[in-house]
Amino acid sequence: MKYISTRGKAPALNFEDVLLTGLAPDGGLYVPESLPKYSKEQIASWSSLSYTDLAFQIIQPFIGGCIPDDDLKAIIDDTYVDFRHPAIAPLVQLDRNEWVLELFQGPTLAFKDFALQMLGRLLDYVLERRHQKVVIMGATSGDTGSAAIQGCKRCSNIDIFILHPYKRVSEVQRRQMTTVVGDNIHNIAVKGHFDHCQAMVKASFADQSFLPEDRQLVAVNSINWARIMAQIVYYFYAAYAVGAPDRSVSFSVPTGNFGDIYAGYLAKCMGLPIEQLVVATNQNDILHRFISGNTFEKHELQHTLSPSMDIVVSSNFERMLFDCYDRDGAAIADLMKRMDTETVSIPSTAFAKVRELFDSHGVDDEATVETIASVYDASEYLLDPHSAIGVKAARECRRDTATPMITLATAHPAKFPEAVMKAGYPSAPALPHHMSDLFELDERYEVVENKLGDVHAFIAANIRA
Ligand SMILES: *Cc1c(COP(=O)(O)O)cnc(C)c1O
Repeated sequence: MKYISTRGKAPALNFEDVLLTGLAPDGGLYVPESLPKYSKEQIASWSSLSYTDLAFQIIQPFIGGCIPDDDLKAIIDDTYVDFRHPAIAPLVQLDRNEWVLELFQGPTLAFKDFALQMLGRLLDYVLERRHQKVVIMGATSGDTGSAAIQGCKRCSNIDIFILHPYKRVSEVQRRQMTTVVGDNIHNIAVKGHFDHCQAMVKASFADQSFLPEDRQLVAVNSINWARIMAQIVYYFYAAYAVGAPDRSVSFSVPTGNFGDIYAGYLAKCMGLPIEQLVVATNQNDILHRFISGNTFEKHELQHTLSPSMDIVVSSNFERMLFDCYDRDGAAIADLMKRMDTETVSIPSTAFAKVRELFDSHGVDDEATVETIASVYDASEYLLDPHSAIGVKAARECRRDTATPMITLATAHPAKFPEAVMKAGYPSAPALPHHMSDLFELDERYEVVENKLGDVHAFIAANIRA
């Protein structure tokens, strides 16, 4: 299996090199050169596998021989040890033919654990074999940072530095990062905004001279292909539970950078009978405006009750457009350049491909809170604000009520007490038992001035030999 860039001008890479790379040198994103395609019989034959055995079947072809099967099996088996539900991704029924897939049973209570628990282990395995060490640097406004830290905490070949804006992340989210103990884990609280943190990470990738000679930076944001790959598995797993492949299913996905729902699109391309994919956005609705009206126009960032979906543009959407343009890299390079500065529409043949599978709905804070309240009223099931957006969009966009509709529940409600209490829930929802001591644990983080030089000095001084 080879990986090619969406902008057509970067050399093809194998899995191992893609794992260690962020953006392609031509500015594009890596995608598999071709996808494995499975018959209905083949898909049916996996229907009773455990989550980890299914994950092995789905993931193995993407590794392209870079990791021996037995080692890959061991990595996958180890990936989900810290998930506290035996089903790993349990389904809960909300109404007739309407379900939520709980993707928040991992160590940080959000779906990013599925990808980052695997990414940390894959990286450490490959690095060990290459006798190489790397530095992970990332900026977070919440979920990604804690999931990356949890994913890398046992990695002996990785030092991880996560920047968050000082006093500007929620206490649960900060504590999920700062209470993890390890001499390779470093939280940097920057006296600035999230945008400043992100700009510093970007500048650091562009000029890595602050690192020792034998180190490079690795990206853990959702443009990393391995993250997408890990997310394909739960679409299959959930579909089996409601009768696939004999029956079609639909999914609604709370969407920010389009990584999660893109994995659903790949599952469909591989042969899973998915009828409809609903792109659920909050007020940062660039994708909803595009899918409903074929105009791509950047708006200013809005801070919402669903902060993990607060984006201006969705980085992974480029991967989708690449297919809609019949994989014409030059056309995508041109389109992306125009999208940066102007309002863009795409040709009707390309747009028709988007509309065949995707519907979309934008859900504002008021409707989010209203959905949390009404679902709780009807079934005493408490949704977090991101998942509530998914449920609301599913209900608005559903094409056919005979087809099971599964909303991906991307976070646990205890992570977002503000939204939940606005919906009338009497108190902050309790953290799951395994985290009940979160507010008693010691925190460790370094407060640093909003200066790139200070951040680099801290990193250089704390990289292990
Ligand atoms: C990251 C995140 C999302 C958005 O996922 P994308 O892959 O960026 O579209 C949705 N909900 C939660 C809770 C998240 O952490």
